[in-house]
Amino acid sequence: MPSSPDPTARPLDALLRDELAAIDRAALRRTLRPMRRREGATLLVDDREVVDFASNDYLGLAADPRLAGALRDALDDVGVGAGAARLVTGDDPLHERLESAIAALKGTERALLFASGFAANVGVLPALAGRDDAIYSDALNHASIVDGCRLSRAAVRVFPHGDVDALDAMLRADAGGARFRRRWIVVEGVYSMDGDLFPLDRLVSLARAHGAYTVVDDAHASGVLGTGGRGTASHFGVDGAIDVTVGTLGKAFGTAGAFVAGSAALCDLLLHRARSFVFTTGSPPAVAAATLRALAIARDEPWRRDRLRDNARRLRAGLAALGRPAPGEADGHVVPVLLGDPTRTVDAGARLLADGFAVGAIRPPSVPPGSARLRLSVSAAHTPEQIDALLEALAAVPGVPNADPVPA
Ligand code: PMP
Repeated sequence: MPSSPDPTARPLDALLRDELAAIDRAALRRTLRPMRRREGATLLVDDREVVDFASNDYLGLAADPRLAGALRDALDDVGVGAGAARLVTGDDPLHERLESAIAALKGTERALLFASGFAANVGVLPALAGRDDAIYSDALNHASIVDGCRLSRAAVRVFPHGDVDALDAMLRADAGGARFRRRWIVVEGVYSMDGDLFPLDRLVSLARAHGAYTVVDDAHASGVLGTGGRGTASHFGVDGAIDVTVGTLGKAFGTAGAFVAGSAALCDLLLHRARSFVFTTGSPPAVAAATLRALAIARDEPWRRDRLRDNARRLRAGLAALGRPAPGEADGHVVPVLLGDPTRTVDAGARLLADGFAVGAIRPPSVPPGSARLRLSVSAAHTPEQIDALLEALAAVPGVPNADPVPA
């Protein structure tokens, strides 16, 4: 055993500070900023109320007192922690009730809860795909999908974002069952940073033609798109044709956690194989009670989806009038304003915050280099006046109004 310290070794903190300095030089330094959610799409930031255009609270449920009430009632009944993994002693009847309600919403045989969307993706892909498989993954898929692909050890083929023809060509190039045991295509329903939709009708036909299986992360569409908020597959009329659907509960449903919806066999296998399900403490059961309330409200108050679409249309029309038409559907609820440069984007975000609006100032690695942007997310809780006020503020932000617009 060596007894004297290595004189050439630098203290770990010095090394880490060097890395942080490099992040600074690239204008990519980030900090946490505490803020508190209030009703009416507002946040309290440094004791100041600002309108929230940064959260994924699409249906305006996160601060709904009915969810808090359901949580409180359940807490009195079941306490806080699940105490153990669900496969040990952490499985509460509320978990099972929520899974049944999600399966009913999605029109699938079964659903299985995960602690988060991130945990779902890093659990599901390695549980299904292995060394002998290929995964075809959209270039703009979320970090958790990228990590899930890597953990699976499958051959990963990344195809250009939304490009069904390129995907077809890749599938053809790898044709035949001989080369890979199984082939999986993984996409998002609504892209989190671009707000556009993957054409799931085309995906389903392509997958069928090539004998591939489909995995759709519907984090940003569950509760929002399709009949009764069933999701992107319903929007494209291919309900029931997706093999594996992942959805989150921390966005439109306003609580926390995530689910996988699909066949009974799928969920049963995941319960054995998805390591982020097996080896983690069950989520607090009272949160499941709040989510059950959220699902019921999302079903019984369809006006929320109508208002969300109206609000999105209003914001997008206003941006188009500023020469900044946002890509995606005319009523898409995720609205990017591409500025390109990270410093300009952060400055724009800071200025809007000073004006009373929280918006996402998104830089790499959340988006590809050179595509820093403001990410505006619309909520059913916004009023038309709040949207008009944001547009007025955006019009005064240097670099946002575009006198010489290029098509989105
Ligand atoms: N998938 C996508 C497409 C997402 O946008 C996100 C969240 N940003 C996640 C998964 C992760 O979900 P969660 O926040 O529940 O971990």
